[in-house]
Amino acid sequence: SIIDHWASESTWNLDIYSVSQDGRYIIVRHALVATETASLLTDAGHETVLVARTMLPGASVLGEHTASRLLQLHKPRHVAHLGRSPRVIRTHSDRITVGLDDGTQIDGDLAIVAHGTIPAAPSPWSGPDGIPVDTRLRTLAAPEQRIYAAGGLAIHHYPRHSSYRIDHWDDSAAQGVHAAHALLHDVGHGDDPGAYLPVATFSARVHGHTLTGAGHPALGTSTRVVSTEPLLVAHHLGDTLVALTGIDAVPLVHQYVSHLHESTLT
Ligand SMILES: Cc1cc2nc3c(=O)[nH]c(=O)nc-3n(C[C@H](O)[C@H](O)[C@H](O)COP(=O)(O)OP(=O)(O)OC[C@H]3O[C@@H](n4cnc5c(N)ncnc54)[C@H](O)[C@@H]3O)c2cc1C
Repeated sequence: SIIDHWASESTWNLDIYSVSQDGRYIIVRHALVATETASLLTDAGHETVLVARTMLPGASVLGEHTASRLLQLHKPRHVAHLGRSPRVIRTHSDRITVGLDDGTQIDGDLAIVAHGTIPAAPSPWSGPDGIPVDTRLRTLAAPEQRIYAAGGLAIHHYPRHSSYRIDHWDDSAAQGVHAAHALLHDVGHGDDPGAYLPVATFSARVHGHTLTGAGHPALGTSTRVVSTEPLLVAHHLGDTLVALTGIDAVPLVHQYVSHLHESTLT
């Protein structure tokens, strides 16, 4: 399904309510999981304080238009310390204090640090760098040995772009399917599946709205607003459409998703 409720399907909401009624939560970092967690906490009646390193959190991943719209959704609901980093985190018997780089001290009942993930590859690829793969998801280290990598630890290379890694469920599943087809082809049992190009969708619920994306927006070097209400943003690498992001734009994303990785000039 296009709707993967990042936080609601994970364990967050099982524990949030029992931690503290009318609690004050400090959320450090501001990517997708943090965004949805802040939304869930606020909807449950808690006070939430956001701390983000940049002035426009999420812009490097979602592009500035979609990140701006998300910030507009957050602003009336949370105190936000933007462009700030934590310098010190201290726990006390009844509270936790996060000290920021501008000297601000924030007190709360719980601090959540949403720091993202790094790949945990098995030996002999262990280390934080994941497993580099070719376009058919064969490991670059041993292309002749039919060793394939798919999912959050696979390091891909998009044509005319640098390496990238995608860490969400539907894309991991799509990569697994692609690797299986490549393996079958390599042993003479199927057609060449072609180069792996990310098209899977992802979504998050934020203050009653649905952020939806398809492909990997971070591959884009420019963005174009296709529609303002609902917001749909096209992410391009040169003249190639590499991703879509939108708010409350699920049908529109579906409409355009088949054009991912096509050149807009053809
Ligand atoms: C808090 C959180 C919430 C998330 N919510 C969502 C969401 O709502 N929607 C979404 O699309 N994505 C979500 N994600 C991302 C999603 O979980 C990952 O993208 C996805 O699980 C990646 O799948 P994978 O199969 O590549 O790796 P994983 O699911 O991490 O599976 C790797 C497996 O390999 C095992 N393993 C590791 N090393 C070894 C070894 N040496 N030997 C044997 N086994 C080993 C691990 O134990 C693990 O079971 C979330 C991530 C986090 C952290």
